[in-house]
Amino acid sequence: MTITREHVSAPGAPEPPMRPSRYVVTARRAETYDTVTLMLRPAEAPIEPPRPGQFTMLYVYGVGEVPVSVSGFRPGGSQGSRGSRDQVLVQTIRAVGAVTRALCAAAPGDMIGVRGPFGTDWQLHRADGRDVLVVAGGIGLAPLRPVVLTALAERARYDRVVLLIGARSPDDLVFTRELETWRRRDADVRVTVDHGSAGWTGQVGLVTKLIDDAIEDPADTAAFVCGPEIMMRLCSEALANRGVPATDIRVSLERNMRCGAALCGHCQLGPLLLCRDGPVVSYAEAAPLAAKKEL
Ligand SMILES: Cc1cc2nc3c(=O)[nH]c(=O)nc-3n(C[C@H](O)[C@H](O)[C@H](O)COP(=O)(O)OP(=O)(O)OC[C@H]3O[C@@H](n4cnc5c(N)ncnc54)[C@H](O)[C@@H]3O)c2cc1C
Repeated sequence: MTITREHVSAPGAPEPPMRPSRYVVTARRAETYDTVTLMLRPAEAPIEPPRPGQFTMLYVYGVGEVPVSVSGFRPGGSQGSRGSRDQVLVQTIRAVGAVTRALCAAAPGDMIGVRGPFGTDWQLHRADGRDVLVVAGGIGLAPLRPVVLTALAERARYDRVVLLIGARSPDDLVFTRELETWRRRDADVRVTVDHGSAGWTGQVGLVTKLIDDAIEDPADTAAFVCGPEIMMRLCSEALANRGVPATDIRVSLERNMRCGAALCGHCQLGPLLLCRDGPVVSYAEAAPLAAKKEL
């Protein structure tokens, strides 16, 4: 594969931040039984404004540090060279282990360390004048939420804005309070769950099943896909089979990340260091890597 400009920091680019900035938790919203959204404000020098799709390293003092995608961002008032002290950083975390459990348990007033932002972004500009198709599985909607919010804030720039959302069960759906708002703002939001439950009247089945019907003009569609790796692979295949060019399908790849600065090598995938060259890459780049065993 070719390493493009997107993959390598431009000459003169600022050094990646290695020291966490202290952020205070200002609000906490439970999304599901195991997923929480935290609103964070800088207590000292803020991080630079993240682009949709980028991630931060969140550090719980005395527990550890993990990569988490930015699920929302408000820049705040007057910007310094880095960002505003009024900025609001929104991060959505699913409790799976020690650090994510500690993050989900954080309460307003608690202090968290933040480094970043790191990595590549969704490149929403690729969808200018075309259809935006967001395909999310479970908590995969968190890294895609900034795409949805940006697309709806600049609604006239795009043709259709379509969201296909899948989750294991109705209890695993995140941002449910926002889905109606997004519909009112002219997004076509379609939801399905693998397994229904009592009271669920919506669609049942895998999110891949929604793809065929959602696409009107494949050559004029930019797709943004995030979820479990198998879901991203099957959805990307379905999109490509429907005629969406592989370069117009973007996926967010997760690997074990430690430094965030392309130094430690933990997140290597073939020729890519995903903390710098990812997490968001095109399906054209991801497909050959996914096909190789043991990468
Ligand atoms: C770029 C990027 C963005 C991410 N964005 C989010 C996000 O927005 N919200 C969120 O909740 N999580 C996100 N994650 C995953 C998150 O970083 C892991 O869940 C976290 O590192 C687990 O740490 P832990 O100490 O809580 O659990 P551990 O004890 O380290 O792990 C618990 C379980 O989770 C698995 N696991 C650990 N790290 C990962 C990983 N990177 N991918 C998949 N499985 C993993 C382990 O194999 C283990 O089974 C992201 C990961 C990356 C690389």
